[in-house]
Amino acid sequence: MKTVKFIRFQFGNESYYGRLDGEKIFALNGDIFGEYEENGKEYYLNEVKLLTPCEPSKAICVGLNYKRHAAELNLNVPEEPVIFMKPTTSMIGPHDDVVYWPIINRLDYEAELVVVIGKNARNIKPEEASDYIFGYTVGNDVTARDLQQKDGQWTRAKSFDTFLPFGPCIVRGIDPSELKVQAFLNGEIVQDGDTSDLIFSIPFIVSYISKVMTLLPGDIIMTGTPEGVGPMQIGDTIEIRIEQLGSIVNRIVEAK
Ligand code: MG
Repeated sequence: MKTVKFIRFQFGNESYYGRLDGEKIFALNGDIFGEYEENGKEYYLNEVKLLTPCEPSKAICVGLNYKRHAAELNLNVPEEPVIFMKPTTSMIGPHDDVVYWPIINRLDYEAELVVVIGKNARNIKPEEASDYIFGYTVGNDVTARDLQQKDGQWTRAKSFDTFLPFGPCIVRGIDPSELKVQAFLNGEIVQDGDTSDLIFSIPFIVSYISKVMTLLPGDIIMTGTPEGVGPMQIGDTIEIRIEQLGSIVNRIVEAK
């Protein structure tokens, strides 16, 4: 498959899906998961605001999916994937601000490869997963680490507003099995992983989750973070970068 990049963007009061070609955007009418066509309007990346590249009904996340990350948290490698969710209200665009909410004492970045689902997936087999995957994007599974440890389960720690920046585009037609997954805190590299170190493969994860819940077009799966997670402070800039997919850059700001 030829590589294609899709974005969603705002220009003035209008928002569209678009096909990205270099710096140029070809706006689309319709839904990238269904019927769409180019509507003749063209823009440049530097004149639009990038939105989340799709509007998921849910984000399902895999915890502990890189061996060395499990080790740094002093946790055993799980026999089955540990899954949890983040709400749609946590989702923000690739350049939006992440809020450091006052009840949090430690706020961590987690660089993650994100799978975007293309069609209804219910109880599928791993070998069928590629038919249901639309493409891939970049995400940051922002986590209130102190609350994760305190609560014993992860809903509060993972679910604050602004805790799921993702984008900038959805890339179709790539092989995700050997991609560098990196985080840069204020320009300094802090995570430097590779998807070849995943404990559970992407087809396995998609199949596993589809045996629990129906995955809908546009739903996203965050595939876990490599080692090197660490804290962020107000005023920091965190960049998550994945080979062939680009990067998201978010500032950490005080709650207003
Ligand atoms: Mg994570």
